[in-house]
Amino acid sequence: MSSPVTLIDRVEALLAPGAPLPLVLAGDPALRRPADPYDGELPPALLADLLAAMRVTMREAPGVGLAAPQIGLGVRIAVIEDPSPLPTEASLVRDRRPVPFRVIVNPRYEAVGDVAAEFYEGCLSVPGYQAVVRRALTVRLRGQDETGAELDEEVRGWPARIVAHETDHLDGTLYLDRAYTRSLASTQVLQEHWTRPDVGLSRELLGF
Ligand code: ZN
Repeated sequence: MSSPVTLIDRVEALLAPGAPLPLVLAGDPALRRPADPYDGELPPALLADLLAAMRVTMREAPGVGLAAPQIGLGVRIAVIEDPSPLPTEASLVRDRRPVPFRVIVNPRYEAVGDVAAEFYEGCLSVPGYQAVVRRALTVRLRGQDETGAELDEEVRGWPARIVAHETDHLDGTLYLDRAYTRSLASTQVLQEHWTRPDVGLSRELLGF
């Protein structure tokens, strides 16, 4: 009888070819399975290698977040980093601020208050498209960091959207499940028509 494949085996195999790692794209069941809780199964050096590979993969994409299922690993770990270039009208309206690289482990979130925000949002696993998603402006994030330290904090604005998006991945949820489907736009059309941060006009003309 062969011994079961452990998380260590799976991570070692995944990292063998080197980063950036190939991204799992929409339609792959790996993105639809709820990920397993992470319980410290990886030796520190291997965890560090995994997180470094996820960081490289996120940066090269480029994206502002990456959840483990997006590299085919069904475990509740995600990385986030938003360099958020110089403030623009769009970043101000979106309340987008720089987020230093961070790791969220076993994250969960809940809305704080009932203020919502609606913006176009995209996903590295759904290349070429964006759609408008209504999300809580502020969320309470709980879970751990990569050292196992407990997290319990309020996150507001665009960083809250990133936290929610990445945590949703760990539950097998894609942003499209929450999007106004009539708002779906190819990146090309988005750049031609919907560069304004506020979605009022696209709502009117697309009917969502
Ligand atoms: Zn995504």
